[in-house]
Amino acid sequence: MYHRFMQPLRIAIQWCFLLFSLYLGVRLFGFVRYCRSGGTAAFVPRADGIEAFLPISALVSLKGWITSGAINTIHPAGLVIFLTVIAVCWLLKRSFCSWICPVGTLSELLWKAGFRLFRRSVRPPRWIDIPLRGAKYLLLLFFLWSILIAMAPDQVASFITSDYNKLADVRLMDFFLHLNGIPLITIIVLLIAALPVRNPFCRYLCPYGALVGLVSVLSPVKVTRERTICVSCGVCTQVCPSYIPVMQKDRVFSEECIGCWRCISHCRAEGALEMKLTGRRVVVSGLVFAALVVGLFWGGSLLGRATGHWHTGIQLPEYLRLLTY
Ligand code: SF4
Ligand code: SF4
Repeated sequence: MYHRFMQPLRIAIQWCFLLFSLYLGVRLFGFVRYCRSGGTAAFVPRADGIEAFLPISALVSLKGWITSGAINTIHPAGLVIFLTVIAVCWLLKRSFCSWICPVGTLSELLWKAGFRLFRRSVRPPRWIDIPLRGAKYLLLLFFLWSILIAMAPDQVASFITSDYNKLADVRLMDFFLHLNGIPLITIIVLLIAALPVRNPFCRYLCPYGALVGLVSVLSPVKVTRERTICVSCGVCTQVCPSYIPVMQKDRVFSEECIGCWRCISHCRAEGALEMKLTGRRVVVSGLVFAALVVGLFWGGSLLGRATGHWHTGIQLPEYLRLLTY
């Protein structure tokens, strides 16, 4: 009860990031329209930060950074955001998924709508759930192996400087603006599945979620239950969007915990469920947790700007060349 403010606060932060993502998308759309018009449409500057939606490019950038020692100038913000997300989830569980990621926000909106509609959420049986959860790790392995291991340094360099990578953000935007065929059907199926099942894309298919989930196991903060105060009501287990049986845990180590605080916010026994540091003594307050999630995420981008690894080095004439048909 005494953590009830955490859910409105988290949802407000989620929606701020979602609206900010839309703003970045609108800016990119205006910029591309200007370039494709050959410079005759109204000029809208491209906003750096849209690279948050290019994790594969960021992974190639990471390999390039490791092999060459330099952060590339094509999409430096992509690597900065990627590393920031890893740092946030290492320190604060998979909080990126439940506080910042726009896909997580839309997914939560859908399963809550489904819950209102059907008055329950469906938990897929274990024999489906476990293999499906493995799918995101297979996707992650595929990307890690093909980029970090199989890609030679010269291939990395040529990918980073390729026209394909330079326009990766534009291609992604075009993909969503002209959805049809199998991709459209897949997205519709995922949207429908997200009504009865909680966060199916994040749980089964997102390789980014798989990566930050593994990193989050090392997080020093975890949901911690105090057996002597807990009244075994089961509410924490019921409200968990990741289907974690919180009531049966002393400390939630699961890589599926997205640090959403729903279990803590709904717990009726004060002190039974807290976010605690390793050692189970130090309680992390909700406000501190929220401030750290937002502060670290913005701090990463500020650090990127301060060190000159934020703005793309692609100049306007090059964008005009690449985008004018
Ligand atoms: S255990 Fe608690 S914080 Fe973790 S995902 Fe479930 S409800 Fe959210
Ligand atoms: S909601 Fe709180 S009191 Fe109820 S089972 Fe979970 S930890 Fe125990």
